[in-house]
Amino acid sequence: MTQPSVMTQENTSAQKEGGVLVGVVDDDSFDLHKSTSYHPERPERLQAARAALQGAGLRTEAVAAREATPEELARVHGGAYIEELASLVGRRAQLDADTYVAPDSVVAVRRAAGGSVDLVQGMLAGRFKRGVALLRPPGHHARPNQAMGFCLLNNVAIAAAHALSRGVSRVAIVDWDVHHGNGTQEMFFSDPRVLYTSLHQWPFYPGTGNAPEIGEGEGRGYTVNIPLSQGAHAGDYAAAFDRVLLPVLEAYRPELVLVSAGFDAHRNDPLAAMRLDAAAYGWMTARLLRMAEQTAGGRLALFLEGGYDLGALEESLAASLKVLGEVALPPAEPPPPEPIHEAEIKRTKKALEGNWRVFA
Ligand SMILES: [Zn+2]
Repeated sequence: MTQPSVMTQENTSAQKEGGVLVGVVDDDSFDLHKSTSYHPERPERLQAARAALQGAGLRTEAVAAREATPEELARVHGGAYIEELASLVGRRAQLDADTYVAPDSVVAVRRAAGGSVDLVQGMLAGRFKRGVALLRPPGHHARPNQAMGFCLLNNVAIAAAHALSRGVSRVAIVDWDVHHGNGTQEMFFSDPRVLYTSLHQWPFYPGTGNAPEIGEGEGRGYTVNIPLSQGAHAGDYAAAFDRVLLPVLEAYRPELVLVSAGFDAHRNDPLAAMRLDAAAYGWMTARLLRMAEQTAGGRLALFLEGGYDLGALEESLAASLKVLGEVALPPAEPPPPEPIHEAEIKRTKKALEGNWRVFA
């Protein structure tokens, strides 16, 4: 049911009793990844994320960060790349035009990866069914053998690969960062055990993520890209969820749901040109939770990716967390989609037609 959007604020602030336990990864080492000159991927981002968590009032359990083992990294990254990173410990380097390494960065990203593994492990072991990893730098552009787009290690992919190694056979990754998660897509492109889904601005950095990219071999149909042209608002994202993303997820029946949670599709973000508001992140989380409760025992974790306006990051993450921890009701529904974006959503549906019976 569509409700007037003026209801949003009221509903967002409605508090629920109790709340569900949320595992949290955070670590001081993540602040040490720092450029010598201004870079949008900066330590202040994590301060904003911490403020969001603190303000959300969740019941939390800390998950200690630790360095991921070479074996855990090698599930998605190549040995030569893992060694290349090791050679950069204690050094400063520029790995591509956007991606820097500070002397403490490599240890920090290994600790982020290890924390991500243990977050998933905590969910699989039943310690908590929800999780959030407040990580820097982000991970979803990191390719098997290459740092890219601010990212050094692909945290969400490492976490998903850990679940597979523990016998989970269906993991869904939902990537709502405004950029396409090319690294994650590449790592699982031919693997049906991981359903990679992404909504992103397109055409845009990094250039991948067109609708016909649906996976290959046994993985055909298990990559779902919903590219949207700039200016898409909350109603367009809602339509993408309801018409494509959720039908596929419900048919896939994931046992674990991991979100590449970037907040750079917010209308205030300086790097992109989408028009989401903070409430949109609340109901995206709510939709995924409903699905996760049906198929995945409610197991859902957010992994911080992008989001470069500090206020938008804090407010949007807070909206997600309140829903994740069940301390607030989901915000009200957004308005209907715009025709241009509806047509784009149809393209994804068409690309997947032969692979998902829900679209037949
Ligand atoms: Zn991004």
